[in-house]
Amino acid sequence: MAVPIMQAVRVGSYVVKQHITGRKRYPLVMMLEPLFRCNLACAGCGKIDYPAQILNQRMSVQECLDADTECGAPVIAIAGGEPLLHKEMPEIVRGLIARRKYIYLCTNALLLEKKLDDYEPSPFFSWDIHLDGDKGMHDASVCQDGVFERAVAAIKKVKERGFRVSINCTLFDGADPKRIAAFFDEVMALGVDGIMTAPGYAYERAPDQEHFLNRQKTKQLFRDIFRLGKGKKWRFTQSPLFLNFLAGNETYHCTPWGKPLRTVFGWQRPCYLLGEGYAKTFQELMDDTQWDDYGTGNYEKCADCMVHSGYESTAVMDAVRRPWHIAKVAFMGPETEKPMAPEISLANQRPAQYVFAQHVEQKMEELSAAKKPARAPRVRVVKADSAIETAAD
Ligand code: SF4
Repeated sequence: MAVPIMQAVRVGSYVVKQHITGRKRYPLVMMLEPLFRCNLACAGCGKIDYPAQILNQRMSVQECLDADTECGAPVIAIAGGEPLLHKEMPEIVRGLIARRKYIYLCTNALLLEKKLDDYEPSPFFSWDIHLDGDKGMHDASVCQDGVFERAVAAIKKVKERGFRVSINCTLFDGADPKRIAAFFDEVMALGVDGIMTAPGYAYERAPDQEHFLNRQKTKQLFRDIFRLGKGKKWRFTQSPLFLNFLAGNETYHCTPWGKPLRTVFGWQRPCYLLGEGYAKTFQELMDDTQWDDYGTGNYEKCADCMVHSGYESTAVMDAVRRPWHIAKVAFMGPETEKPMAPEISLANQRPAQYVFAQHVEQKMEELSAAKKPARAPRVRVVKADSAIETAAD
């Protein structure tokens, strides 16, 4: 199984409990980005375009544990930036595993073999290795030759050591379904436990703006891939209903609070992909975010989004409401031939707002305020003749 049975049971009971207790909004996976610094500069990435002072920031071990205490989601995906650049990452992972949280540590794998001795296999821990397709596709995606081969060598090594490992495969416009299907065969043959796949989100800061998929192309691409996968034993770490959504068979609305993101800025509003503001606490994020302002049909920047951070939680919640439906899709695979489900109208979406520069400016001000040396206290000097003068600095 792509997800161990115990993990599926624990996450399933967590979801059912939230429904029974009538909790309207709840987190399913906490996304944690304890740093933005990366050792690659991928053309489709919109996460690393910050000044050096911000890229040098790290969340401490305690801040990561506190984020988990606040959020309480049963699964935590640690991303970035490149998490293996964080010196305290082994301690963060150990601390979260001790709390019996299921950890996915996302990495481009360039440092994995070097750092592997710092980690131990656990049913609560999985490596999640970035691989956007075969050698030609992946090396082009990360803008560096040789990265695919290093990632594959790392996958073999971690499997030898008894770790669980999944791959994280983002697809862009122009992806060839036959090539992707062959790539999925290849990674299954390598022994990966699961595939996580999604279309790339059109980050406004990504250097390459030309290769993001719109919704229609996304749905057609995934239909074509899944058609080629009929009868094969591809294992996905995602809900079958999310895959069915990617193939155009579900009219899902976004659930951005399902995968809340904590970064060096705080809790990001509204989701992992969009940084439209930051809350100081998880409660503030949940209570004060105008959730109805976001999602496809509500906001221009969400128009083409079909990413798991917004829609996988919707699929999981749908599975609780319609267990017979997920059972059918899990058994039969996503539908690839019938007409697609209706698309959400964009007629009333609000226009995009561009606030990135404002957040960067605010963070830079905070950092420079924190750096300024404290003014020395004014000292009263008492002279022998009882005259008083004041010394400062
Ligand atoms: S649709 Fe949802 S997940 Fe996608 S960018 Fe908008 S708020 Fe985020």
